[in-house]
Amino acid sequence: MGKSSIEWTELTWNPVTGCSKVSQGCKFCYAEIMSQRLKAMGVDKYKDGFKVRTHPSTLEEPYSWSKSRVVFVNSMSDLFHPEVPLEFIQKVFKVMNDNPQHVFQVLTKRTELLLEYDNANELNWSENIWMGTSVEDQRVMERIDILSQTKAKTKFLSCEPLIGPLPEMNLGGIDWVIVGGESGRTPRPMKPEWVLDIKRQCNKANVPFFFKQWGGTNKKKAGRKLEGKTWDDMPSMPVEFSI
Ligand code: SF4
Repeated sequence: MGKSSIEWTELTWNPVTGCSKVSQGCKFCYAEIMSQRLKAMGVDKYKDGFKVRTHPSTLEEPYSWSKSRVVFVNSMSDLFHPEVPLEFIQKVFKVMNDNPQHVFQVLTKRTELLLEYDNANELNWSENIWMGTSVEDQRVMERIDILSQTKAKTKFLSCEPLIGPLPEMNLGGIDWVIVGGESGRTPRPMKPEWVLDIKRQCNKANVPFFFKQWGGTNKKKAGRKLEGKTWDDMPSMPVEFSI
């Protein structure tokens, strides 16, 4: 596990590493850059760089964390990548099912495969699994409707990097929306009106809204205030959790 600097989680846990690009949101994939860096540093887990690899030895980790954690699962991959065997996904689910003291946040861009497995009743959804999809612009908005069809108990959207407007999202059945701009050397700009429109849609649908960051070449300087304040709403969780 690793402590995370991501504003909406506490720790990262990576039972799978490696991925491949699937849409425009992947263009400057942080996981790819980090994987290559870790490979160059000789870190054994990343010896195959960004190729999809499962790491069975990591499955024990959540059992040993002494306090309740909010955990981002697979910050370095996509659990529903087609090269991840269903049997391994089910092992990851079993760990999450066995550890209700932790909240596990799973994020995918492969909602079709997620829904296919779910429709076949291959996934066991416990309350502590939050299932999310990334929606960077209108071209991938169908991911929202696909996610909504799953039996996950808590569903969320990560609109990051937001690279276009997302008008008239169907937020029925969605429990949380995160918005963030792209950072790095050549970030694609995020317009304030896109963010404000998403916030308005969340208010209307009574969905918690989390504004992660403006992004840009100087992410720290750009900050994370919108209309003069921070927006850190989250789905409700037991009091012992704090991030
Ligand atoms: S799905 Fe996620 S991890 Fe995979 S390439 Fe795209 S941004 Fe990177």
